[in-house]
Amino acid sequence: MDNLPHIVVVGGGAGGLELVTSLGNKLGKKRKARITLVDAGLTHVWKPLLHEVASGSLDASANEINYRAHARKHHYEFQLGRMSGLDRKAKKLVIAPFHDEEGREVVPARAISYDTLVIAVGSTANDFGTPGAQEHCLFLDSLKQARRFHNLMLNAFLRKNHEALQGHEHTLNISIIGAGATGVELAAELRLASRELPVYGMNHLQSSDVSISVIEAADRILPALPGRLSAAATRELERQHVKVLTGQPVSEVRENSIVMKDGTKLLSEMTIWAAGIKAPAFLAELDGLEVNRSNQLVVEQTLQTTQDVDVFAMGDCAACPQPDSDRPVPPRAQAAHQQADALFKTICNRLDGKEDVPFVYNDHGSLINFSRYTTVGNLMGNLSGRSMYIEGKVARMFYLSLYRMHQVALHGMFRTGIIWLMDRISRAMHPRLKLH
Ligand SMILES: Cc1cc2nc3c(=O)[nH]c(=O)nc-3n(C[C@H](O)[C@H](O)[C@H](O)COP(=O)(O)OP(=O)(O)OC[C@H]3O[C@@H](n4cnc5c(N)ncnc54)[C@H](O)[C@@H]3O)c2cc1C
Repeated sequence: MDNLPHIVVVGGGAGGLELVTSLGNKLGKKRKARITLVDAGLTHVWKPLLHEVASGSLDASANEINYRAHARKHHYEFQLGRMSGLDRKAKKLVIAPFHDEEGREVVPARAISYDTLVIAVGSTANDFGTPGAQEHCLFLDSLKQARRFHNLMLNAFLRKNHEALQGHEHTLNISIIGAGATGVELAAELRLASRELPVYGMNHLQSSDVSISVIEAADRILPALPGRLSAAATRELERQHVKVLTGQPVSEVRENSIVMKDGTKLLSEMTIWAAGIKAPAFLAELDGLEVNRSNQLVVEQTLQTTQDVDVFAMGDCAACPQPDSDRPVPPRAQAAHQQADALFKTICNRLDGKEDVPFVYNDHGSLINFSRYTTVGNLMGNLSGRSMYIEGKVARMFYLSLYRMHQVALHGMFRTGIIWLMDRISRAMHPRLKLH
């Protein structure tokens, strides 16, 4: 086992977990290579589901994958730990000490040797140094944060329901800063929650008592997507009684309010930051690997880092060039999924002494899901390069297919079918909203 080439993937997210699964199935199983996944957490939940976990429309535990169990089934090893450094000459990555929830050290700092290293540690929210954002905003970067949001939201509803019962002022002001896909979809999820919760006993509160605002610095929501899509999304949000504030850069976040650049103030008891992303800060100090201003590791077209032939990066933490654009590949789940495929081929090729595979992002379009209300989006025609606008049930089907593709990559077609069936049964058996 020790003589086998050791491939270490750090980060078991949308891209990393798909990569170790296919490497394990192909190389680990036949003992052609030793595959190790390192992740800071014990379980995986596909990140695009986090806003549904936050609002309670999805129970994360049903969609959680335990790395140890998955590793056993797919012939790779799992190491719990947070990567904090790299020694490229010694070909070792450094894992920070692991502490339990009480702060006690469970495992000390350690090093893991590699022959090939893939860094796939994703991204975190970028608050651009906005005063008060770290102290007063909620973020949706991890399952832990999504669950915390959900608990705070349930408590806020409970408090307002009680105030309504007492005949006091009881409007709950929720604001989402950033109207990219995450912010817009979260707004629709929260509107659904505000309609469902009164059904489950908080009946002194009406959906209209919950004021939801989406704040965007650009002059339209979904600024990265075509104008037609943002117009349709604006209409849908307004139909859901979500306030859409565009051209409003936020200059400060306070405990119960937001201050705009022009000095106007907006009351906000729950403020969620969903404007922009950056890669984790430790990447900027990885033994001379090149990073851009967002801490993303700069990679060649083959996803190999520019400074080291044996270190690759993929997904949100990588800045990968696109042949026909001066912008890198966008930080999206479909990009991470495609990169996992390309890197799988490159790693297998290298073991056979063959060439690396250049990665070319194939944008299949963008879909914005308004909870159970509707979905709007555009699909790219592969040959024509033109996009086709879709909405409603067909759009929702395409939206859901992205997650199903991730599940197929992790479990295979047959098991994904069973999981889908179990999801349907579970939805029929449980309340439409997670109530605890
Ligand atoms: C709420 C929300 C909704 C979204 N919706 C969509 C959508 O509809 N469509 C779409 O295309 N994209 C969407 N995205 C973006 C999408 O989730 C990301 O582009 C995608 O998850 C990136 O995959 P990744 O593998 O690079 O990183 P991630 O999936 O973020 O995984 C990173 C992994 O690395 C681990 N990790 C982090 N740091 C370390 C470390 N130092 N050491 C060890 N492990 C570490 C983490 O625990 C995690 O498991 C959404 C994102 C959010 C937050």
